[in-house]
Formats: sequence, C-alpha cells, structure tokens
Amino acid sequence: MPRIEHDFVAKLRQPHIADHVDDVVAALANDDAGFPGGAPISINLDLTTACNYRCDHCIDYEILNSGPGYDQGVVLSSLVSMTLAGLRSVILIGGGEPTVHPHFANVVEAIKMLGLQCAIVSNGGRPEKLRRVATLLTGGDWVRLSLDAGTDETFQAMHQPVRPVRLEEICESVREAKKDNPAARWGFSFIVSWSGLSGPNERPLETNVHEIAAAAALAKDSGFDYISFKPMLQRDAEGAETIAWPPGVDGERLRAELTHQLEKAGALRASTFQVLESLNLDAAAKGADSHLRDQPSRCAMHFFRQVLTPTGVYGCAAYRGDPKDRLGEADAYAGVRPTLATGARTHAHVEAFDAAHECRNITCIYNSANRWVDSLRETGEATAAGAQIGDYYL
Ligand code: SF4
Repeated sequence: MPRIEHDFVAKLRQPHIADHVDDVVAALANDDAGFPGGAPISINLDLTTACNYRCDHCIDYEILNSGPGYDQGVVLSSLVSMTLAGLRSVILIGGGEPTVHPHFANVVEAIKMLGLQCAIVSNGGRPEKLRRVATLLTGGDWVRLSLDAGTDETFQAMHQPVRPVRLEEICESVREAKKDNPAARWGFSFIVSWSGLSGPNERPLETNVHEIAAAAALAKDSGFDYISFKPMLQRDAEGAETIAWPPGVDGERLRAELTHQLEKAGALRASTFQVLESLNLDAAAKGADSHLRDQPSRCAMHFFRQVLTPTGVYGCAAYRGDPKDRLGEADAYAGVRPTLATGARTHAHVEAFDAAHECRNITCIYNSANRWVDSLRETGEATAAGAQIGDYYL
C-alpha cells in the first residue's frame, strides 16, 4: 500500500475531482473527443531558470540560467484561467530556485487568493524570503527544502551556494518560520547520492549515503515535520530521468548501507516527525522497480499534472525542457481560449506519445495511476469515488 503522498489513485478518486477524471476517461475512450476538463488538477510551476546555487548534481543543469524568468502577467492570468478549468494545487519548484524570481511573493499571494493549495520546493538559500511568504500559507500547504546532507561540509560540497549560507542557518530559520505560522508542513529533502554517479559536467558526485541518519537527526532537532529520501536521478542518452543503480556487488553493498542508514533514520520517527522514503527509492533499494518501468502506452497523467516553465509547458517533470513532451508555449494557459486549445493539444499528445517506449527506463511513480485510468478506459466504468483526502498535489 503506497503512502498517501504517493497514492495517486486515491488522490484521483476524491469526490471533488471525480468528474474531472471521468471527463478524461471519456476523452480517452473516444478518440474524436477533445478534453472538456481543460486544465490539469496540479501543476509544477517553474518561475525561473535562475539559481543561486551551483549544485554538482543539478538535473536541470542544461536549462539553468538559460533565459528570463516567467512573465508575472502570464503567470497570474494562467493561474486564473486554470483555476476556472479545474486547477487545485500549485507546486513552485525547479528549473531554477523559485525565491530568486522578483515576483515570487506576489505569485504565492495570488495562489492563495485563488484558494489553491500551495507548495514550495526551495534550496533554502534565501531563508528571509521563505519566512515572509510562509505566513501566507494555510493547512495542507507545505515547504520542502532540498538540503541533502547531515553536515555543513557535505552541504557546501554538494550545493556550492553563491551567497554564503550554512546548513545550520537554514535549519534555524525553519524553526522560526514554524513559530510565525505553524499551519504549513516543512520538509527536509535528501536526494541520496552514491559512489559511481557523475554530474552533468562528468565530474564524480559527492556521496551522502553515510549521512542519511545524521540528516534525519538534524531535521528532527530543527523542527521539520518530516525528512524525505529520494534517489539521485541521472539523464539517460534519450534525455529521460532514470535511476543509475550500480550493478553486481556494488549494488548489493549500496543496498546494505542504504538499508542500515534508513533503519537508523526510521528509529527517529515520532508523532511530530515522519521519515519518508520515495516510492522509486524503496523499489530500487529492494531491486523491485521493474514494474514501475513498465508503463502503459497512454500516459493519462498528462491530463492531471503538467509542468509550466518560462520556456514552455511540458507534460511530465521527467521531460522538463524536452521538446518531445512539450505541450505549448509558456502562455499556453494564459486565457480561457488558450486553455481550451491546450486541453485539446494535450489529448492529441497523449495519443501520439508512446509512454511504454519513451519511459521504458524510468522508474515512474505514476505507473499505478496510469494503469488505473487505462483500466477505466477499457471497461468504460465511471470513477468509483473514494475518500475525500483533501490533498490535490500530483
Ligand atoms: S509514464 Fe511516467 S515518466 Fe512517462 S511521461 Fe508519464 S508520468 Fe512521466
């Protein structure tokens, strides 16, 4: 049974969005239909490609600092149009560091004024900006900081902040932000990096497997609500984000070390502190991720979750910036007409994009949701509404 954060079938079965899902299933069952839903339920919103860190492992290295930030007017009008068409949640995230965008605070304010759920994924390097917007957040919102280390030494080596900032300083600011407004959940994100991986410039990456337990202790002491562990992703020759698990003895050794560290971290669980492993890390560590690489041909998640960036709209975060999964320009949702047109283009794209082939090397956390929608399409059944969880992040 997946954790609720990763149980995308349970999220899609929530009564408040069941009609939206039924519209998608009907559109898929009838090749001539458009996409009446119009907009995804959840978006990743990349405000900028600019970043104030120089991380050795940045998956978005090629698009980093590659152009202007998202135009504020386009972002705001897109949010309004998409909300009218069914948008429920916004995750301000990558491609760059969201807090670097000059209108970051205004965008957070607009998201909350529209009644949307808001999440922020940040490197934490501008603690004062995060503290200011954190006062706007409400229950169900969250902030996740990409910290990836249990010591400042490893933090500096992995992230290379342009303006000096220490790991302890970031953690201390979280404690203060939670005092200002306890409504939002704060997460300490740790991307697990192991020996043998290389960065975008071919230099070997820092390893941090040995700091998993120390990071969990630091997160707990600093007042974070949880720490989450994910595997380091690497882009394959075709541009897709994949897990490069070492073969043979090295893979077994890594599995043993990872299990040991995760058990030590897990011992710190408490009613106020969670220790979370991502679905793909858990599957890779158990050597059981092959079913998550067996995608159905149609990736219906394109209808429910998309990525808006200053360089265009993409269907999946695994193909951020990749023309093969591009759904339109940056202003593809800036207005009602563009929103309807993008919905129709999304449908055509889902039919043309063969996920079974394109994503065959990707350990995809949406695999079960895609299979579930596929089964509804085949049987013609309507969505059987499940529990109202109140979590619309996809
Ligand atoms: S199958 Fe998974 S990895 Fe592939 S496009 Fe869909 S969500 Fe992304």
